[in-house]
Parts: sequence; structure tokens; C-alpha cells
Amino acid sequence: MTVDATRTRTRPGTDDVVRRVPLSLVARELVVEAVEDLSPSLRRVHLTGPDLLGFASHGPADHVKVFFPADDGVLHLPTVSDGRWLDHGDPRFTYRDYTVRTFDGERLTLDMVVHGHGPAGRWTAAAQPGLSLGVLGPRGSMLPPLDRTHYLLAADETGLPALLNWLDRLPASARVHAVVEVDSPEHHVDLPALARVDVTWVYRDGAEPGTTTLLVDAVRTAHEGLRDVPPARRWSWAAAETSSVRAIRELLTADGHDRTSFAMTGYWRRGTANFDHHAPDA
Ligand SMILES: Cc1cc2nc3c(=O)[nH]c(=O)nc-3n(C[C@H](O)[C@H](O)[C@H](O)COP(=O)(O)OP(=O)(O)OC[C@H]3O[C@@H](n4cnc5c(N)ncnc54)[C@H](O)[C@@H]3O)c2cc1C
Repeated sequence: MTVDATRTRTRPGTDDVVRRVPLSLVARELVVEAVEDLSPSLRRVHLTGPDLLGFASHGPADHVKVFFPADDGVLHLPTVSDGRWLDHGDPRFTYRDYTVRTFDGERLTLDMVVHGHGPAGRWTAAAQPGLSLGVLGPRGSMLPPLDRTHYLLAADETGLPALLNWLDRLPASARVHAVVEVDSPEHHVDLPALARVDVTWVYRDGAEPGTTTLLVDAVRTAHEGLRDVPPARRWSWAAAETSSVRAIRELLTADGHDRTSFAMTGYWRRGTANFDHHAPDA
């Protein structure tokens, strides 16, 4: 990846640690080319179309807003002008945030969770080639440090796509502990078999997503194992249901870590539709 240093700037409060590369905001209409089942709860959706011209994404957790057809089947796309989304409040829109898993120049690939509680989860369950989706963004790429010696990565199914991106990008020299929450072993997805990556899977065993402390408990144990590594040599990242992420952030903060050694965001909140991950408590 080539990044024009003159276009990058430091995110306030992160002490030159996470760089943001602004990207032109563009709305695109794309067509599902293929769908793969990665597990019973995660589907890989490949999107194509001429609108992908100029698409760019560089960071492991970069995300787009995906626009789904309304109940009448009509896909309403946002209007963007000069990098601004003009009709943001239009009630006809149904949109949710998704991580850019990969973009190979012709295909944009998203890994999407199947669940029955919201329109995006239901669309994913029924996804098939030929369906159209709208995609807005990414608005920018976030480039976290890739030169730490130790990484602690934590995710539920919604954070797995970004966690996979992390594993694709980290140097072979990095010592990585990935903690992943899924329902049961049959919901495992293939993770790259890297020599210096330890993976802890934790299982809800039928409990509803977002109702357990499994992820936090496993992160606490992994964090204890890293006690001798100073924060400046570590990076922690988490993406999952908001209450888990908040507890992980509190656990690290209580031990003297701050935004120079972690970045984490609640990706959804139990009981809230279209949760805003920019909310102060995300
Ligand atoms: C930056 C970012 C990146 C994300 N990347 C991905 C990604 O790559 N893949 C992905 O699948 N998701 C991802 N998510 C999460 C996704 O946006 C949310 O799960 C979203 O709420 C799904 O929309 P929905 O229409 O299915 O449910 P909503 O209409 O938003 O919510 C309806 C109900 O469903 C519940 N709900 C929402 N998500 C889940 C879930 N996963 N499991 C169980 N119940 C749920 C809500 O709590 C609510 O009660 C990301 C979120 C953010 C903020």
C-alpha cells in the first residue's frame, strides 16, 4: 500500500499513534457476485460493479455503510456532494456498518453475520448472487501501529472480519493473542496458521450474543499473561457487543493503558437498532 504522507494526519488524542488517511466519500451501487458460508453464522459476500472504480481502503478496521433495499424491494442510495452525505436523515434508508474485508481492485468482499434480529442480519441469511446493495465510504482509513511486539485482539462474530484483516497485516515477528467469541466450535472460521499467533475461542453455548462476560474474562486472562510487556510495546484492539468492549477498555485503563496502546469500538449494542459506534459510550 502507498499512502501519501501529505494527506495523513494524526487523530487527536492518540499521540501520533493511529494515523487517519482521508478518502473521498462516494456512494456506490454494487451487485452480489457470489456468497460463501464461512460458518453457520458468518457469510462472505463478494460485490462487484463499475461503481467500484476508485474504491480504496487500507486499515484493518476500515468500514463502509451498507445500504439495504427497503421493504418494498427498492434500494435507496444516499446523495453525496463534495464529500458530504446530503440526505442523511431520509427515513427511506436502511443502512448498517460493515468492515471492508478485502478489495482486490474488482471485488469488494464483506463478511456478514447471519442473525434474525435486524434487517441486515436477515438480508445476509437470504443473500444470493444478483442482489443489489449500496455502499457508502469508507470516509477514511485508520492506520494503527504495526510495529509493536505484542498484540491482543478480541472479537465476537461482528469483529471477526477486522480481526482477520489484522492477522493479514501484522508482521510475522509480532506475537499475537487472538480471543474470539462464537456460539460453539462449529462456528469457527479458518484463521491463518501463523507461528506466533495463539487463538482462544470462547463459546456462548446457546446463550444470546451480547449476554455473557466470556470475551472479557478471556481477555483478562490473556492480559495477565502479558503483564511483563510494557504498554508501549503492546497494542490491544477489540470489536464486539458494546458492553464487552466497554469492560475490556476499563480493564486496560485500570492497568495504566491508554489510547497510545489500544483502540476499541462497540460494533453493536444489544437491544439497539443501527447502533451508532461514534456514541460516547460505544
Ligand atoms: C465499524 C463497524 C464495523 C462492523 N463490521 C461488521 C462486519 O464486518 N460484519 C458484521 O456482520 N457486522 C459488522 N458490524 C456490526 C453490524 O453493523 C451490526 O451488527 C448491525 O446492528 C447489524 O444490523 P441489523 O440490521 O442486523 O440489526 P439492527 O437493526 O441494527 O439491530 C436489531 C437488533 O439486532 C441486534 N443485533 C445487531 N447485531 C447483532 C448481532 N451481530 N448478533 C445478534 N444480535 C444483533 C441489536 O442489538 C438489536 O436488538 C460492524 C459495526 C461497526 C460499528
